Amino acid sequence: MKYRSIKGTKDILPSETASWLQVETVIRTVMNDFGYREIRTPIFEQTSLFARSIGELTDIVSKEMYTFIDRSDESLTLRPEGTASTLRAYIQNNLGEQSPLTKVYYLGPMFRQERPQAGRLRQFHQFGAEALGSSSPQLDVETMLLPLEIYKHLGIAECSLKVNSVGCEKCRPRYKELLSNELLKIKEKLSPESQARIKQNPLRVLDSKNEGDQKLAAHLPLMKDHLCEECRQHFSQVQKLLQKVGIKHTIDGRLVRGLDYYTKTAFEIASSHLGSQDALAGGGRYDLLVAELGGKPTPGVGFAAGLERLIMVLDKLGKAKYEHSGPVLFIAALDERSREWAFAQCSELRARGISAELDYLDRSVKAQLREANRLNAKFVVVIGENELQSGSAKLKNMSTGEELAISIDRFSAAF
Ligand code: AMP
Repeated sequence: MKYRSIKGTKDILPSETASWLQVETVIRTVMNDFGYREIRTPIFEQTSLFARSIGELTDIVSKEMYTFIDRSDESLTLRPEGTASTLRAYIQNNLGEQSPLTKVYYLGPMFRQERPQAGRLRQFHQFGAEALGSSSPQLDVETMLLPLEIYKHLGIAECSLKVNSVGCEKCRPRYKELLSNELLKIKEKLSPESQARIKQNPLRVLDSKNEGDQKLAAHLPLMKDHLCEECRQHFSQVQKLLQKVGIKHTIDGRLVRGLDYYTKTAFEIASSHLGSQDALAGGGRYDLLVAELGGKPTPGVGFAAGLERLIMVLDKLGKAKYEHSGPVLFIAALDERSREWAFAQCSELRARGISAELDYLDRSVKAQLREANRLNAKFVVVIGENELQSGSAKLKNMSTGEELAISIDRFSAAF
């Protein structure tokens, strides 16, 4: 074959789009129930927007972005996540001036040059939400409830929610220094990757995937035990609210997300139905990010969740939908004149919003009926010279097998 899709990208085939539509419909319904409105931003932005917001030293910016120089010598990047673009649009369009609280959601493809594996693609899809303009811990909990509610609607009851606080600009620098000092004491025992992080990004050592690092990390000081009073109170409010709404969760002091912009709350939702890439969603608060990107200081909180992984879980649970709804009517035609008649009737029905299908391959009546069955048609009618001359045909209800006489003259009006 001459052309193949790019490594880490995937065609979503017609046999799979039914489950995508099912999931997207639930996402839109729940987002609407929670008062979030959709925002659609471009798929590429200035590279500096992502470098500035996600952080130069993060894996995403340092090694995973699809960055290119366009013909005007501008450095552009395919969006690796949705928050930076959403905030850029929020600032650029003065959304904060139209309303003191802005709640938006997005759904679409993201791009990261990661090593492809099950549940990890280079073009993948995320849905996510951002609430901008309030520091209320209620919104931290709301952005955890949103994906959980979407999963529940789809039939996924069991997810694990881990919550942490990563502090703020007041308490984090002190803690970072403390952590770096502790890490320097055990530097030789750490993996080379973690050793490299001690200076620049010591928090990431805490969530290292290396087993040796994990054992050592168990004895390191945690941010949650070194929070300033404001962060401590915020974190305790979040936990109280989670209890109030009856959401099971665990506090994980080693949860640090791979993006630099988080302040205070950070959370992750995982599913035991996934393999090593078990994270379904992640999010947190980012109270400094709007100002960092040039907007007025505005607190914010949000989450992002993977669609491919969600569909993998639905598949495992047998809850993914694999059939598109079939046509209301399939017209099987026996000869040329009947085929023309069938085409005109189908066009008329479709124009009235009734799904109708016919055979385009001059197949035998038996093959046409097989096709009607495969498509899951609700009704089937066979039309030939006899039916056109007598002015009457038999309409078969495919689920009951019942047959009804239908007039040829007033055919489309019967539906
Ligand atoms: P992140 O933006 O890294 O916090 O990711 C949020 C969610 O998006 C993850 O929990 C995954 O469900 C999904 N995700 C992130 N990266 C990928 C990827 N490369 N392939 C598929 N899904 C991904």
